[in-house]
Amino acid sequence: MCKLGVMGGTFDPIHYGHLVAAEGAREELALDKVIFIPAGKPPHKPGHDLADAGDRYLMTGLAIDSNIFFEVSSIEIDRPGPSYTVDTIQFIMNQYPGAEIYFITGADAILEIITWKNVERLLSLCYFVAASRPGYRLDELWEKVGAFIQCPEKKILGMEVPALAISSTDIRRRVREGKTIKYLLPEPVEEYIAKKKLYRR
Ligand code: ATP
Ligand code: MG
Repeated sequence: MCKLGVMGGTFDPIHYGHLVAAEGAREELALDKVIFIPAGKPPHKPGHDLADAGDRYLMTGLAIDSNIFFEVSSIEIDRPGPSYTVDTIQFIMNQYPGAEIYFITGADAILEIITWKNVERLLSLCYFVAASRPGYRLDELWEKVGAFIQCPEKKILGMEVPALAISSTDIRRRVREGKTIKYLLPEPVEEYIAKKKLYRR
C-alpha cells in the first residue's frame, strides 16, 4: 500500500523547519513520498502581503530538489480562490487511489485545524502528523485536541523533530531589515530571494 505525506503551507518562503518536519515524517512513518502543496493566494490574508504564488512554488521546488522522496504540487495554486484542505486531500486521493494519506503539520497548525468546521470529515480521510515546533508542547496539544474532538489519538500522531525556531515570518523580517538568512533555508532559495528581491518591504 502506498503511504503518502502531504504538507500544506504558504511556504513564504520554505525553510529548514518545513523540510526537517517532512523528512522526519517520511522516515518515521516510512512514507513513499511527501508532496508539498503551496497555498494559493487568499484574497484577504491579514498580516502580510504574500509573495506571488509562482515565486513560492519555484522556491519550494528549489528546496526539495535534492530529496528524491519530495515533490511539489501546484494544485492549490492552480485553483482559483482559497482552497480547503479537505478538497485538496480528496484531489490527492483521486490521484493516488488506495493510498494512505498523512497530512504533515507543525504543532501550531494542528491546533488551528482541529477548530475547523469540517475537521471530522478531514479526519475520516487522512491521518494528521503534528511535528514539534518551539513554543508548542505536544503533551499540552493533546489536552486541547481532546477538548474539541473525540478519540483523536488514533488519527492525530505527534512527532518529535529536532526543534528549529525558524519561521517564514522571521525570515521575511530579516530580509526587510537587511539581516542574514543564511543557514535558515536552502541556499538556492536564499539566492532566489536575493535575485528576485523578495521581501524587501
Ligand atoms: P509564517 O510565519 O508565515 O506563518 P511558517 O514558518 O509558520 O510561516 P507555514 O507556511 O505557515 O510556515 O507552515 C506550513 C506548515 O509547516 C505548518 O503546518 C507549520 O506548522 C509547519 N512549520 C513551519 N515551520 C516549522 C518549524 N520550524 N518546525 C515544525 N513545523 C513547522
Ligand atoms: Mg505559519
